[in-house]
Amino acid sequence: MIGITDNLLGSVVGVYLARAKDEEILKRKVASGGAVTAMLIYALEKGLIDGVVTAKRVRGFEGQAIVARTREEILEAAGNKWSIVPFAARVRAKIEEEDLKKVAVVCLPCQAQFFGQMREFPILETDFGERIRYIIGLFCTGTFAFEALLNYLRIKYNIKAEDIKNITLKEGFLEIQHDDSLLQLPLKEVYSYLQTGCLVCTDYTGMWSDISAGFIEKEKGWTVLITRNIRGEELVKGAEREGYLEVRDGSHVMGDILRAAREKLARAQKNMMSLL
Ligand code: SF4
Repeated sequence: MIGITDNLLGSVVGVYLARAKDEEILKRKVASGGAVTAMLIYALEKGLIDGVVTAKRVRGFEGQAIVARTREEILEAAGNKWSIVPFAARVRAKIEEEDLKKVAVVCLPCQAQFFGQMREFPILETDFGERIRYIIGLFCTGTFAFEALLNYLRIKYNIKAEDIKNITLKEGFLEIQHDDSLLQLPLKEVYSYLQTGCLVCTDYTGMWSDISAGFIEKEKGWTVLITRNIRGEELVKGAEREGYLEVRDGSHVMGDILRAAREKLARAQKNMMSLL
């Protein structure tokens, strides 16, 4: 019998470390390698997709669903998101508004599950799964209930939402750049501001994606890519062949990813127990 912990990472075809070859992408995405950005630009420029639906941070923790149709728009949208954008509900509207026939969706594991299930098991004629060419899921430990967190930041640190310029997750703390200052908040301090659903979520890598992408501390400057199927594998290999991506074997980082996935599962189990 396969236990849940034996299959924590879902189906895996290949594990790679990749980084963009484009100097401009590398400059903007110093820590994480920019491989997702490079793959999306490759897919767009080669006509594999006609747009990318993703979330873009507009202010502080706030984000919105946007369609990127050009290289510049993809570059602008690149970056981490620390809130759940009301995304799935907006994607269909965006696809129809812009008459997109084949899109890549960059999303969180919970959103990848929604899109993946809709694509694999269409049940309504209003589904738009056939238009989703690629699902790229980002490793995720949780997103914040941003209104509550912003409130906390305002009361405890006198930081206003409009003054927040950037938010970065570092090992063990959240770094908030506001005006000209930097606040380093231990994650333990803000843990209680995670979305309730995140506290019981068991998917770290995004098992319903075609490609899962993330970052690990010990391989700074590289993106971890897990391909889930032939579709994902062909995207990575095509981007490499056409000179958009530098790719190397990443099997040695699987232990670290599995550890993070186990920690997320343990957190969910603990929180579920407290609900019973
Ligand atoms: S932790 Fe789970 S529910 Fe929360 S944003 Fe990430 S994938 Fe979605």
